Amino acid sequence: MVSKWQKGLWAVVVACVTLAFTIVPGFLVAQPSSSIDLSSAGLSLEQVADRVYALVGQGDIPAEGDVSFVNAGFVIGSEGVLVIDTFSSPKLAELMFAQIKSLTDKPIRYVLNTHYHPDHTGGNSVPASLGIPIVGRGQIRELMAKANPQLVPPNIIINSETDFWLGDRHVRVERVEGHTKGTDVVAYVPEARVLFAGDMVFNQRFPYTGDGSIKNWQGSLYRLLVSYPDAKVVPGHGNVGDVSIMRAQLGYFNFLEQLALSWKSKGLSKEQAIAQSQEIPEAYKDYKFQALYAGNPGLQNNLDSAYDQFSRSLGIPLIP
Ligand SMILES: [Zn+2]
Repeated sequence: MVSKWQKGLWAVVVACVTLAFTIVPGFLVAQPSSSIDLSSAGLSLEQVADRVYALVGQGDIPAEGDVSFVNAGFVIGSEGVLVIDTFSSPKLAELMFAQIKSLTDKPIRYVLNTHYHPDHTGGNSVPASLGIPIVGRGQIRELMAKANPQLVPPNIIINSETDFWLGDRHVRVERVEGHTKGTDVVAYVPEARVLFAGDMVFNQRFPYTGDGSIKNWQGSLYRLLVSYPDAKVVPGHGNVGDVSIMRAQLGYFNFLEQLALSWKSKGLSKEQAIAQSQEIPEAYKDYKFQALYAGNPGLQNNLDSAYDQFSRSLGIPLIP
């Protein structure tokens, strides 16, 4: 899995495509001079609820300069702030920390990583240098070290449902599955009914599916829909929305599953299946991150994942 992953990364770098999971070495090194602001970073600061904010990146893949294609957010309580994800670079994390400072004089108490991918953890060195605890789940330290040893991993590991208290504010962190292997969490602010969904939700963007299990992802999305039917949802990528954006994500996975089952019923090889399904369906023509649908040889795209997870696995006989 690791070598496949690294192979994938290199293929992308060679193709000059900077993807969510690609760390171009210089990208993580703080750029000393040029400062960035929200607009040059392609970010909009959105107040999702009282004292709950999202920074929403409008960038696409391949990324251009400092323009963010990733979201992050923060929750302000009477005694401190919880930051959710740190973007892909220290520069972007510093920009977020400056926004927080402009909104509150409360200290940043904790940083939560919704999963290990470098586009959400690449700015961890900023809170680490300030002595702020960074929280993550499961094998996140090991997976970050494998993805890029320069990344600063969380120093608090949670393996079950966890509650953060920021004075008058409560944030509940719970485990979900599917986007990565055992590092995914979501954060819910009950009193504001805001769900920070991390990469469980890509809104109007093709998701990265090469690192987990679509089946588990579908299951977790069903559960989130039932648990938080009236939540405002901050996705890992794309605009903030209501639960309809989770339903759309689920709808896309159900489409991929049906497509893969039709390949299986026709007995197609992976090459045949992918060759005849290259074109992006009308319903998804406007999605960003199009390279993740069928492009990028060497990187696990959505069609590869669909075949591997729904066609191939079902085709393996129990007794050879
Ligand atoms: Zn991710």
